[in-house]
Amino acid sequence: MSNFEKGLKAGVISGIIFGISIYSIQYIIERLTSGYDISYSIIFMVIIGGILGSIFGAIIGIIFSKTYKKLPGTSSMVKAIIISIFAWIFFSFLIPFILRYGYSYFSDNFIRNAMSSQVFYIFFGIMLGLLWDKFTEMEKTCSECQRVVPKDANLCPYCGKKFNINIKKVNKETKLTSKKS
Ligand SMILES: [Zn+2]
Repeated sequence: MSNFEKGLKAGVISGIIFGISIYSIQYIIERLTSGYDISYSIIFMVIIGGILGSIFGAIIGIIFSKTYKKLPGTSSMVKAIIISIFAWIFFSFLIPFILRYGYSYFSDNFIRNAMSSQVFYIFFGIMLGLLWDKFTEMEKTCSECQRVVPKDANLCPYCGKKFNINIKKVNKETKLTSKKS
């Protein structure tokens, strides 16, 4: 799996969960706090949230994979949280500012909405980082040609380099048997 694929996949999965949770929770809060009846159902919000979330996740996931090495932080989790905070600033402040939403930019309502979405973005970042690591764990890079090869391969399909995967396994097994005896 290339970094691009990995970012796209991790982004879309996290984005769908992000979109569904932010839309359905907002719907529930609105239903509980506003006096008037909301005509559309929660299923509609889940579908909309899932669609918008997957688009959002794909964009952020691709940017994440392309900027991965330049992002600050030593772990992919920290990097993913940083990019999700950038996304939060972009989608909660810059986009509404450009589009000039119905309410005033500096109204209490606007600030409250923007602040309350922050937790969802951080949650998205955590998922993105976790999935990125999960997908990275499933593969390894050849020490000779730097290409991504299947994790259980003991021979590089590109350059023919032999990996010492079997030696490691034997060592593990001998350790286990020596512990038993
Ligand atoms: Zn190789």
